[in-house]
Amino acid sequence: MRDVKVDSSPDTGRNAGGGSTRKQRDGFDYLIVGAGFAGSVLAERLAAGLNKRVLVVDRRAHIGGNAYDEYNEAGVLIHRYGPHIFHTNAQRIVDYLSRFTQWRPYEHRVLGQVDGALVPIPINRTTLNMLYHLNLATDDEAAELLARRAEPVADIRTSEDVVINQIGRELYEKFFRGYTRKQWGLDPSQLDRSVTARVPTRTNTDDRYFTDTFQMMPLHGYTRMFEKMLAHPNIHLLLNTPYREIHDEVRYDHLIFCGPIDEYFDYRYGKLPYRSLKFVHETLDREWLQPVAVVNYPDEKVPYTRITEYKHLTGQQHAKTSITYEYPSAEGDPYYPIPRAENAELYKRYQALADATPGVTFLGRLGTYKYYNMDQVIGQALALYKRIEEATPTPLST
Ligand code: FAD
Ligand code: UDP
Repeated sequence: MRDVKVDSSPDTGRNAGGGSTRKQRDGFDYLIVGAGFAGSVLAERLAAGLNKRVLVVDRRAHIGGNAYDEYNEAGVLIHRYGPHIFHTNAQRIVDYLSRFTQWRPYEHRVLGQVDGALVPIPINRTTLNMLYHLNLATDDEAAELLARRAEPVADIRTSEDVVINQIGRELYEKFFRGYTRKQWGLDPSQLDRSVTARVPTRTNTDDRYFTDTFQMMPLHGYTRMFEKMLAHPNIHLLLNTPYREIHDEVRYDHLIFCGPIDEYFDYRYGKLPYRSLKFVHETLDREWLQPVAVVNYPDEKVPYTRITEYKHLTGQQHAKTSITYEYPSAEGDPYYPIPRAENAELYKRYQALADATPGVTFLGRLGTYKYYNMDQVIGQALALYKRIEEATPTPLST
């Protein structure tokens, strides 16, 4: 076995976990692949809660997975992999993360460029009034307008059905069709209903993107929060380390794999489809670009889906502003599992293989092929920890 050296991260300038000759000699209780939310939360719990020796590896040069944020050359805090807004209804998840960060209250607002105007998304009464030059004054009036436009669909299966059933074809085409075709490279009629169902339609004037009880951003950013989470002496971290390069060289009892499940099994049943994005980051020599953090571009002729301006999210004051364009792509890192029946079927085959493979557990958005938000991944990791904890015999007190 090669000596496990503990890398320091060029991006965070930290050395996660000290060297320990005992750990190198005896190996690890757990090898965790992926230092995103799934892997980091589980590592923290196993190390702090059960005193397990954990090695976390990630092929990227940094911790945090897709939630990684960093100060760019201009000194503006940006999210390398697009905007990440924390929202949840689960008090226990907030309590857990609050051990590692303070918070900045932040309610996310999104506008859409539609028919030459910037209108609230999700569609609400203000959106309808702006679009149709109306003065709908109550929820009931807005609900009546939507009911007149809605085209009832008997069997709602797809992302097209769910929207048309609720608001009709015209609004569907203005807000959903183009955006979805760009984002997924598929027509909404080819995607599970759960995708567009993420975005509700409202008859009130609530213009928040999320209505969760808790909506906030880590005060000093996600990366700082991850650093604290992983700063346990039982946790060793190796960055720039793909699983394949390390797995023969370290001794461990159990593997937690938070990368793509099909990759782990060498694509035995074929590739699980993932959607990727190209992030184009820019810094502008002006204080602000847009009135809210995210502006969506549902028009299919515009090649990107949305522009994010980070200072709205982070509250940072700066003379310049940094933004990101998102260009959906078939090639590149796997960011989105693609929710549709045939992919769910293929995933089930991999899941059966996973169930029949002892010593490894799959976790996270890529490991379980689920279009999960951050809080759902944290919940999944905490639930796995609970199962491990319950199955661990309590040491006899001496
Ligand atoms: P990841 O963050 O993807 O981490 C997996 C890690 O595993 C990666 O760092 C990867 O490098 C590593 N890895 C994979 N394979 C290997 C291997 N073979 N060897 C070594 N390392 C490997 N959620 C929200 O709640 N709010 C939002 O606003 C939000 N916005 C998002 C915007 C975008 C553009 C995207 C793509 C996602 C967004 N999400 C959001 C979802 C959020 O990113 C995920 O829920 C969360 O980051 C998933 O954590 P994870 O640990 O499962 O996966
Ligand atoms: N969507 C859309 N128009 C919008 C916003 C969202 O058609 O203006 C659809 C699109 O299919 C998108 C899905 O709703 O992929 C979910 O949107 P969400 O903002 O939750 O996507 P994410 O932030 O996960 O990329």
